[in-house]
Amino acid sequence: MIKELTAVEKRKLAYKNSSLPYCFEYKIRNAFFGKYCPICGCQMTHNNNLVKPTIQHNVPISLGGKHEIDNISVICKSCNASIRNSAITEKLNNDLVKEIWNNLRYDERNGKLLEKKNHNL
Ligand SMILES: [Zn+2]
Repeated sequence: MIKELTAVEKRKLAYKNSSLPYCFEYKIRNAFFGKYCPICGCQMTHNNNLVKPTIQHNVPISLGGKHEIDNISVICKSCNASIRNSAITEKLNNDLVKEIWNNLRYDERNGKLLEKKNHNL
């Protein structure tokens, strides 16, 4: 019998199967400090927990969305909490996320592409 995966298991699997490096989430959130939430328009910042930038999967992982650059927007924590797992199909600020990530993924010091995280346990 095939057991239905829990939300946490689905999330873990989506991150494990992702082509994005381990540092992606940390780096992209940092890059959005000072930028505006595409939903409520607040300025996202690191020193106010309610408006910290958070990763939003445009198609939620619970509904089969992937943890890949094409499916990711950055919105404030309050909006993220109010959306929860409802299906969001708009792209939100995915174009901006892609643009910023394309600039970030090159290590400034040696120009090398950031390594994909090692999934071998
Ligand atoms: Zn917001």
